[in-house]
Amino acid sequence: MEKRDKIYEGKAKIVYTTDKPGLVIQYFKDDATAFNAEKRGTIVGKGVVNNRMSATIFERLGKARIPTHFMATLSDREMLCRRLDIIKIETIVRNVVAGSLAKRTGLPEGTAIRQPIVELYLKSDPLGDPMINDDHVRMLKLAMPRELAWIKRTALRINTVLVPYLRKKQLLLVDFKLEFGRAGKTLLLGDEISPDTCRLWDATTREKLDKDRFRRDLGGVEEAYQEVYRRVVPQQ
Ligand code: UDP
Repeated sequence: MEKRDKIYEGKAKIVYTTDKPGLVIQYFKDDATAFNAEKRGTIVGKGVVNNRMSATIFERLGKARIPTHFMATLSDREMLCRRLDIIKIETIVRNVVAGSLAKRTGLPEGTAIRQPIVELYLKSDPLGDPMINDDHVRMLKLAMPRELAWIKRTALRINTVLVPYLRKKQLLLVDFKLEFGRAGKTLLLGDEISPDTCRLWDATTREKLDKDRFRRDLGGVEEAYQEVYRRVVPQQ
Protein backbone atom coordinates (compact mmCIF):
# COMPACT_ATOMS: atom_id res chain seq x y z
CA MET A 1 0.00 0.00 0.00
CA GLU A 2 1.52 3.28 -1.12
CA LYS A 3 0.90 6.49 0.85
CA ARG A 4 0.22 9.42 -1.52
CA ASP A 5 -1.21 12.90 -0.81
CA LYS A 6 -2.19 14.48 2.47
CA ILE A 7 -5.91 15.26 2.09
CA TYR A 8 -6.70 16.38 5.62
CA GLU A 9 -4.81 17.36 8.74
CA GLY A 10 -6.81 17.66 11.95
CA LYS A 11 -5.93 18.18 15.58
CA ALA A 12 -4.93 14.58 16.25
CA LYS A 13 -4.78 12.85 12.87
CA ILE A 14 -3.57 13.19 9.29
CA VAL A 15 -5.37 11.46 6.41
CA TYR A 16 -3.51 10.42 3.25
CA THR A 17 -4.74 9.00 -0.04
CA THR A 18 -3.25 5.72 -1.26
CA ASP A 19 -2.75 4.10 -4.65
CA LYS A 20 -6.25 2.59 -4.16
CA PRO A 21 -8.97 5.27 -4.72
CA GLY A 22 -11.40 3.96 -2.09
CA LEU A 23 -8.79 3.59 0.65
CA VAL A 24 -7.03 6.12 2.90
CA ILE A 25 -4.41 5.99 5.65
CA GLN A 26 -5.15 7.59 9.03
CA TYR A 27 -1.93 8.68 10.80
CA PHE A 28 -2.31 9.26 14.56
CA LYS A 29 -0.31 12.16 16.08
CA ASP A 30 0.68 12.85 19.69
CA ASP A 31 -0.76 16.40 19.46
CA ALA A 32 -3.64 17.14 21.80
CA THR A 33 -6.07 20.04 21.86
CA ALA A 34 -9.03 20.86 24.08
CA PHE A 35 -11.71 23.55 24.41
CA ASN A 36 -11.94 24.07 20.64
CA ALA A 37 -8.11 24.21 20.32
CA GLU A 38 -7.67 26.95 22.96
CA LYS A 39 -5.53 24.49 24.95
CA ARG A 40 -2.75 22.71 23.07
CA GLY A 41 -0.13 20.16 24.07
CA THR A 42 1.56 16.84 23.38
CA ILE A 43 0.77 13.51 24.98
CA VAL A 44 3.81 11.33 24.31
CA GLY A 45 2.81 7.97 22.82
CA LYS A 46 -0.87 8.96 22.40
CA GLY A 47 -0.84 8.32 18.64
CA VAL A 48 0.24 4.71 19.14
CA VAL A 49 -2.33 4.12 21.90
CA ASN A 50 -5.19 5.64 19.89
CA ASN A 51 -4.27 3.79 16.68
CA ARG A 52 -3.94 0.40 18.39
CA MET A 53 -6.96 0.85 20.64
CA SER A 54 -9.17 2.01 17.77
CA ALA A 55 -8.10 -1.02 15.71
CA THR A 56 -8.90 -3.38 18.60
CA ILE A 57 -12.32 -1.78 19.12
CA PHE A 58 -13.18 -1.64 15.41
CA GLU A 59 -12.33 -5.36 15.15
CA ARG A 60 -14.61 -6.10 18.10
CA LEU A 61 -17.43 -4.07 16.51
CA GLY A 62 -16.88 -5.87 13.20
CA LYS A 63 -17.48 -9.19 15.00
CA ALA A 64 -20.77 -7.72 16.23
CA ARG A 65 -21.63 -6.90 12.57
CA ILE A 66 -21.33 -3.16 13.07
CA PRO A 67 -19.83 -1.76 9.86
CA THR A 68 -16.71 0.40 10.31
CA HIS A 69 -14.17 2.03 8.02
CA PHE A 70 -11.32 -0.03 9.51
CA MET A 71 -9.44 -2.27 7.06
CA ALA A 72 -6.03 -3.03 8.60
CA THR A 73 -3.30 -1.85 10.95
CA LEU A 74 -0.27 -0.76 8.91
CA SER A 75 2.08 0.36 11.69
CA ASP A 76 2.12 1.72 15.25
CA ARG A 77 0.54 4.98 14.09
CA GLU A 78 -1.12 4.11 10.78
CA MET A 79 -4.43 2.51 9.97
CA LEU A 80 -5.81 1.63 6.54
CA CYS A 81 -9.44 2.70 6.21
CA ARG A 82 -12.27 2.96 3.68
CA ARG A 83 -12.49 6.53 2.38
CA LEU A 84 -15.62 8.18 3.78
CA ASP A 85 -17.63 11.22 3.03
CA ILE A 86 -17.96 12.26 6.70
CA ILE A 87 -21.42 13.27 7.93
CA LYS A 88 -21.05 16.53 9.82
CA ILE A 89 -22.66 15.25 13.02
CA GLU A 90 -20.84 14.23 16.21
CA THR A 91 -22.92 11.56 17.92
CA ILE A 92 -22.37 11.22 21.66
CA VAL A 93 -23.59 8.32 23.81
CA ARG A 94 -23.69 8.66 27.59
CA ASN A 95 -23.99 6.13 30.40
CA VAL A 96 -22.88 8.33 33.30
CA VAL A 97 -23.20 12.11 33.77
CA ALA A 98 -19.96 13.99 33.00
CA GLY A 99 -18.61 17.00 31.14
CA SER A 100 -21.10 19.14 29.27
CA LEU A 101 -24.08 17.08 30.50
CA ALA A 102 -23.17 17.85 34.12
CA LYS A 103 -22.94 21.56 33.20
CA ARG A 104 -26.21 21.59 31.26
CA THR A 105 -28.29 19.71 33.84
CA GLY A 106 -26.64 20.54 37.17
CA LEU A 107 -26.50 16.81 37.96
CA PRO A 108 -23.26 15.81 39.72
CA GLU A 109 -20.58 14.15 37.61
CA GLY A 110 -20.75 10.40 38.19
CA THR A 111 -24.57 10.14 38.35
CA ALA A 112 -25.65 6.92 36.60
CA ILE A 113 -28.02 7.28 33.64
CA ARG A 114 -30.56 4.42 33.59
CA GLN A 115 -31.18 4.44 29.86
CA PRO A 116 -28.24 5.56 27.70
CA ILE A 117 -28.59 9.02 26.13
CA VAL A 118 -27.73 9.87 22.52
CA GLU A 119 -26.88 13.50 21.69
CA LEU A 120 -26.11 15.15 18.36
CA TYR A 121 -23.65 18.01 17.79
CA LEU A 122 -22.88 19.92 14.61
CA LYS A 123 -19.30 19.16 13.57
CA SER A 124 -18.06 22.72 13.10
CA ASP A 125 -14.87 24.21 14.57
CA PRO A 126 -15.86 27.85 13.84
CA LEU A 127 -19.18 27.35 15.66
CA GLY A 128 -17.62 25.28 18.50
CA ASP A 129 -19.69 22.12 17.81
CA PRO A 130 -23.14 23.32 19.04
CA MET A 131 -25.72 20.77 20.15
CA ILE A 132 -28.43 20.13 17.55
CA ASN A 133 -31.54 17.95 17.23
CA ASP A 134 -33.21 15.91 14.48
CA ASP A 135 -35.02 18.97 13.11
CA HIS A 136 -31.72 20.86 12.73
CA VAL A 137 -30.22 17.81 10.97
CA ARG A 138 -33.13 17.96 8.50
CA MET A 139 -32.94 21.76 8.07
CA LEU A 140 -29.19 21.67 7.45
CA LYS A 141 -29.54 18.58 5.23
CA LEU A 142 -26.78 16.83 7.19
CA ALA A 143 -28.36 13.40 6.79
CA MET A 144 -31.58 11.83 5.48
CA PRO A 145 -34.12 10.93 8.20
CA ARG A 146 -33.50 7.20 7.71
CA GLU A 147 -29.72 7.76 7.86
CA LEU A 148 -30.14 9.62 11.15
CA ALA A 149 -32.36 6.85 12.50
CA TRP A 150 -29.66 4.32 11.55
CA ILE A 151 -26.93 6.44 13.16
CA LYS A 152 -28.80 6.68 16.48
CA ARG A 153 -29.69 2.97 16.47
CA THR A 154 -26.12 2.00 15.61
CA ALA A 155 -24.66 4.33 18.28
CA LEU A 156 -26.75 2.51 20.91
CA ARG A 157 -25.75 -0.91 19.52
CA ILE A 158 -22.08 0.14 19.74
CA ASN A 159 -22.68 1.12 23.36
CA THR A 160 -24.29 -2.26 24.06
CA VAL A 161 -21.18 -4.02 22.71
CA LEU A 162 -18.58 -1.75 24.31
CA VAL A 163 -19.93 -1.37 27.86
CA PRO A 164 -19.54 -5.07 28.83
CA TYR A 165 -16.39 -5.45 26.70
CA LEU A 166 -14.62 -2.61 28.53
CA ARG A 167 -16.12 -3.59 31.91
CA LYS A 168 -14.23 -6.91 31.63
CA LYS A 169 -11.09 -4.80 31.38
CA GLN A 170 -12.06 -2.94 34.54
CA LEU A 171 -13.06 0.19 32.60
CA LEU A 172 -16.32 2.12 32.98
CA LEU A 173 -17.41 3.61 29.65
CA VAL A 174 -18.84 6.94 30.84
CA ASP A 175 -19.47 8.50 27.42
CA PHE A 176 -18.02 8.58 23.91
CA LYS A 177 -18.17 10.37 20.57
CA LEU A 178 -18.79 8.75 17.19
CA GLU A 179 -18.53 9.98 13.62
CA PHE A 180 -20.18 8.24 10.69
CA GLY A 181 -19.69 8.63 6.96
CA ARG A 182 -20.82 7.37 3.58
CA ALA A 183 -18.84 5.10 1.28
CA GLY A 184 -21.08 5.19 -1.78
CA LYS A 185 -24.52 4.34 -0.41
CA THR A 186 -23.20 2.47 2.63
CA LEU A 187 -23.02 4.10 6.05
CA LEU A 188 -19.97 3.21 8.13
CA LEU A 189 -18.56 4.16 11.51
CA GLY A 190 -15.43 6.28 10.95
CA ASP A 191 -12.86 8.30 12.88
CA GLU A 192 -11.46 6.63 16.05
CA ILE A 193 -12.52 5.21 19.41
CA SER A 194 -9.83 6.02 21.96
CA PRO A 195 -9.15 7.82 25.26
CA ASP A 196 -9.32 11.04 23.17
CA THR A 197 -12.96 10.38 22.27
CA CYS A 198 -14.21 8.34 25.25
CA ARG A 199 -14.45 8.98 28.98
CA LEU A 200 -13.05 5.87 30.65
CA TRP A 201 -12.91 5.50 34.42
CA ASP A 202 -11.34 2.71 36.43
CA ALA A 203 -14.31 0.48 37.27
CA THR A 204 -13.40 0.29 40.98
CA THR A 205 -11.63 3.53 41.91
CA ARG A 206 -13.35 5.70 39.24
CA GLU A 207 -9.96 7.22 38.46
CA LYS A 208 -10.10 9.09 35.15
CA LEU A 209 -8.09 7.28 32.46
CA ASP A 210 -8.79 9.52 29.46
CA LYS A 211 -8.32 12.94 27.90
CA ASP A 212 -9.98 14.68 30.87
CA ARG A 213 -6.57 14.33 32.60
CA PHE A 214 -5.21 16.68 29.91
CA ARG A 215 -8.29 18.93 29.70
CA ARG A 216 -8.42 19.45 33.47
CA ASP A 217 -4.65 19.45 34.19
CA LEU A 218 -4.92 16.40 36.45
CA GLY A 219 -1.39 15.13 35.68
CA GLY A 220 -0.49 11.53 34.85
CA VAL A 221 -1.81 11.95 31.31
CA GLU A 222 0.68 9.67 29.51
CA GLU A 223 0.37 7.07 32.29
CA ALA A 224 -3.43 6.99 31.91
CA TYR A 225 -3.21 6.42 28.14
CA GLN A 226 -0.63 3.64 28.69
CA GLU A 227 -2.86 2.02 31.32
CA VAL A 228 -5.81 1.95 28.89
CA TYR A 229 -3.49 0.50 26.24
CA ARG A 230 -2.38 -2.29 28.61
CA ARG A 231 -5.96 -3.15 29.52
CA VAL A 232 -7.52 -3.02 26.04
CA VAL A 233 -4.91 -3.86 23.39
CA PRO A 234 -3.82 -7.51 23.23
CA GLN A 235 -0.05 -7.56 23.73
CA GLN A 236 1.96 -9.18 20.93
N1 UDP B 1 -15.88 14.46 22.67
C1 UDP B 1 -15.01 14.33 21.60
N2 UDP B 1 -14.82 15.42 20.77
C2 UDP B 1 -15.48 16.58 20.94
C3 UDP B 1 -16.37 16.71 22.03
C4 UDP B 1 -16.55 15.63 22.88
O1 UDP B 1 -14.41 13.28 21.39
O2 UDP B 1 -15.28 17.51 20.14
C5 UDP B 1 -16.10 13.31 23.57
C6 UDP B 1 -15.51 13.54 24.96
O3 UDP B 1 -14.21 12.99 25.03
C7 UDP B 1 -16.46 12.77 25.84
C8 UDP B 1 -17.80 12.85 25.12
O4 UDP B 1 -17.48 13.16 23.77
O5 UDP B 1 -16.07 11.41 25.92
C9 UDP B 1 -18.77 13.86 25.70
O6 UDP B 1 -18.16 15.13 25.77
P1 UDP B 1 -18.90 16.39 26.42
O7 UDP B 1 -20.11 16.73 25.63
O8 UDP B 1 -19.13 16.11 27.87
O9 UDP B 1 -17.91 17.60 26.20
P2 UDP B 1 -16.59 18.05 26.96
O10 UDP B 1 -16.87 18.04 28.43
O11 UDP B 1 -15.56 17.04 26.56
O12 UDP B 1 -16.36 19.42 26.39
